Amino acid sequence: MEVVVTKSAGFCFGVKRAVEQVYEQVRQGKRVYTYGSIAHNEAVVKELEEQGVTVLESREELEKLTEGTVIIRAHGVAEEIYKLLEAKGLAYIDATCPFVKRIHRIVQEQSALGRQIIIIGNNGHPEVEGAKGWTKTPAVVIETPQQARDFTVKNGEKLCIVSQTTFNYKKFQDLVEIFQEKGYDIIVANTICNATENSQREARELAAQADVMIVIGGTHSSNTRKLYEICRSECESTYYIQTLEDLKLELPNSVELVGITAGASTPNKIIEEVQNYVRINF
Ligand code: SF4
Repeated sequence: MEVVVTKSAGFCFGVKRAVEQVYEQVRQGKRVYTYGSIAHNEAVVKELEEQGVTVLESREELEKLTEGTVIIRAHGVAEEIYKLLEAKGLAYIDATCPFVKRIHRIVQEQSALGRQIIIIGNNGHPEVEGAKGWTKTPAVVIETPQQARDFTVKNGEKLCIVSQTTFNYKKFQDLVEIFQEKGYDIIVANTICNATENSQREARELAAQADVMIVIGGTHSSNTRKLYEICRSECESTYYIQTLEDLKLELPNSVELVGITAGASTPNKIIEEVQNYVRINF
């Protein structure tokens, strides 16, 4: 039996960079706070907590803070959070992923030029909430074809469409098409990051060949959930686990290929543990 792990499984560039910045501040002896969990993975958050890192869960908690260094995670935050940090005189490190920063720049510029910003993504996702906080006029978040069909412009407004970095590429294209069919004046910026596209493509290709697929990632991680959906559509025996402890694997003798992939917030250590376990036990 063969066990194959997708090349891009695990921490993406942006999350890796943010996590490293947290460890760097800890090494320097700073009292570190992250604004929201640095990675959507409980094991990572727990390990950092053990090193004295505190997660600020809300704006209210940030408002009460009087000391320490705040790390803005890869998802980014609204402009008003920077203003709050500055007004409070708190030290902070901006670990917003450059691909997310690009979205902030686009929506800021295009909304200033009078375009209505459409964000294709999941309303309530922290990255989307952050991006909404950079527009001059309120953005509209579109997640489903029905919402796209129901959308109408006021007074011949022009649109600018961007995407949540982790949105499914195919669904993004389908939603953009609905807007294009309406004949509006639209600028489309495909802001889905390559890390997501690559990992989705690799996962699909591997799942298409595998008898069993294991997808590792936090239960709150939207990119892991999407990987799971993709793998499940190609391979019926797809397992979604957070850590090795969740894996209740039963492999019939006929299984020849087990594929493993992991969301962008999954540390290598967990991927290796799962991989070794499957190799040794089956
Ligand atoms: Fe950056 Fe892409 Fe990772 Fe999001 S998924 S943090 S955009 S590298």
